[in-house]
Amino acid sequence: MKVGFIGLGHMGAGMAANLLRAGHEVTVYNRTAGKERALIEHGARAAAHVADACRGEVVITMLADDGAVESVVFDDNGVIGTLREGAIHVSMSTISVALSERLTAAHATAGQRFVAAPVFGRPDVAAAGQLFIVAAGAKDAVDACRPLFDVLGQKAFPVGETPRAANLVKLSGNFLLASVIEALGEAIALVGKAGIDRHRYLDLLTSTLFTAPAYETYGGMIADEKFEPAGFAAPLGHKDIRLTLAAAEDLRVPMPLASLLHDRFLALLAQGGEALDWSAIGQLAAKDAGHYSG
Ligand code: NAP
Repeated sequence: MKVGFIGLGHMGAGMAANLLRAGHEVTVYNRTAGKERALIEHGARAAAHVADACRGEVVITMLADDGAVESVVFDDNGVIGTLREGAIHVSMSTISVALSERLTAAHATAGQRFVAAPVFGRPDVAAAGQLFIVAAGAKDAVDACRPLFDVLGQKAFPVGETPRAANLVKLSGNFLLASVIEALGEAIALVGKAGIDRHRYLDLLTSTLFTAPAYETYGGMIADEKFEPAGFAAPLGHKDIRLTLAAAEDLRVPMPLASLLHDRFLALLAQGGEALDWSAIGQLAAKDAGHYSG
């Protein structure tokens, strides 16, 4: 397919490379020049402007946050102004439910199609084409994106015809992951301060009661006290909890644990954690306990 790809950050670079490798005709755009270079060497076309990435059947955005998506989509010569009628914008970033609604309405008015398809999986998973994709939008549009989803992920989960549903599911998943990280941080601080070997403790847990990948990945990072380089940066984790709380507020769903996590991210950022992985909230319990060697 003829695809535009906008946003070549930790996630987008590997995803665009996979589309190229699978034989799609990919035109790439990134705000900061230079990140497209490796992809051009592998056959991608370079877009000098957002508009140049909007000339195909599909344009994918994989951008940091709401502000980034708003500027790429709504600015003059942005996606809304340049995508042809009937073409599809696939938004794979983790954005707010409110922005997803705004995108749905704006694309409909412009005669374009919109699919929300946020993902689970870190940059290494994205590069391996093994993401889990949560997709929502009109059935014909989601079906048309299938060949792309098959390349980008190991499985796509359709969650209905209303795009915002996919964004809410994604945010709820990141809320759960952050909850796991905080809980692991507290448990590892407890046993660590008592002198019990953190890695053996984690090995015990992840081979018995908690065999899910999230416990292994994040437990390992906390036990190693290794939060750099950031695969998923702390400000993005903070953003996701903020967006979860905003959705919860709109739906009148109290989420006391999400409020606590919001404070944990604020503490991490206040202590200079901007460049760390979001799992660094898992070090705060050990710091509070006066038992952190990092
Ligand atoms: P990232 O490495 O920080 O990349 C962000 C991308 O957005 C870059 O291409 C950046 O361009 C662009 N951008 C930021 N602000 C912009 C603006 N105002 N206008 C235009 N472009 C802008 O982030 P990432 O880790 O790839 O994450 C991308 C999205 O995927 C986020 O929504 C994140 O929550 C979600 N996600 C991430 C992970 C993960 O583990 N990393 C997993 C699942 C989902 P520049 O190069 O110019 O800065």
